[in-house]
Amino acid sequence: MLYLVGTPIGNMGDISGRAVEVLGSADIIACEDTRRTGLLLSNLGIKASLISYHEHNKASKGPVLINRLKEGHDVVLVSDAGMPCISDPGYDLVRLCIEEGIDVTAVPGPVAAVTALVLSGLDTRYYHFEGFIPVSSKERKARLKALRNYEETIIIYEAPHRLIKTIDDLCEEGFGDCEAAFCRELTKKYEQVIRLKLDDAMEYFTETPPKGEFVICLSPVPKKSGESSFDGKDLEETARGLISEGLSTKEAASRLAEVTGRNKKELYSYILNLIK
Ligand code: SAM
Repeated sequence: MLYLVGTPIGNMGDISGRAVEVLGSADIIACEDTRRTGLLLSNLGIKASLISYHEHNKASKGPVLINRLKEGHDVVLVSDAGMPCISDPGYDLVRLCIEEGIDVTAVPGPVAAVTALVLSGLDTRYYHFEGFIPVSSKERKARLKALRNYEETIIIYEAPHRLIKTIDDLCEEGFGDCEAAFCRELTKKYEQVIRLKLDDAMEYFTETPPKGEFVICLSPVPKKSGESSFDGKDLEETARGLISEGLSTKEAASRLAEVTGRNKKELYSYILNLIK
């Protein structure tokens, strides 16, 4: 069986009892960095056989791990921090296991994205996990353009030395009016959540240079008047529905403005024309 085991993102107290149990009884532990995982295991008093498995050797090490699993060994996969497969290696190994009919299970642990989301104060009902934005400028621009259309909270991972560049690029792509939460050093001694408008973040981080690990949570780009994912047919149907529910023109215009992000006055005239 392959076990995907979550490890702390900073605070060692966050390792679960089940994670310790599974790590302690594994035949093989595959990890990104044997020194780092070795340290975690020695803190837990666990001796284990470690195999390195990371972005640059996964093509050759994947089949090796599959062979060990087929021989009946239990293999644990951990990353340097948090859950494997989340902006970390693991996905390819899970796919290989599924293809080979090998059982996979997870021992869930902390994830920086979810920890940041719940602290951000932004909408937690609908969210999009982006992870790292591509570095190459063409792909980066394309991704940022695509993100403009998202209507849910956006979660981005970023290294401290790239944070200011990312804020700059986001502002250039029209995210300046978004509410942002910069969640820093989560679960650690200097944990901090900096909540501001993205437009103000450049000044803040120029005065206070970014240090430590960051997750950026962003509210969706606010819709401008007249801009909405509602097409004309949706708008008409919704407006007629609200009127038939007995709402006054004013009430219907307010409700429509909430759901479409359009201007209330324009919607009021629109509904008047519709029902006259
Ligand atoms: N697998 C991890 C998870 O489950 O969240 C993510 C690993 S990814 C390689 C590393 C990125 O996660 C960092 O660059 C940062 O954006 C974010 N991160 C990890 N630990 C963090 C922490 N304690 N505070 C803030 N961000 C963190």
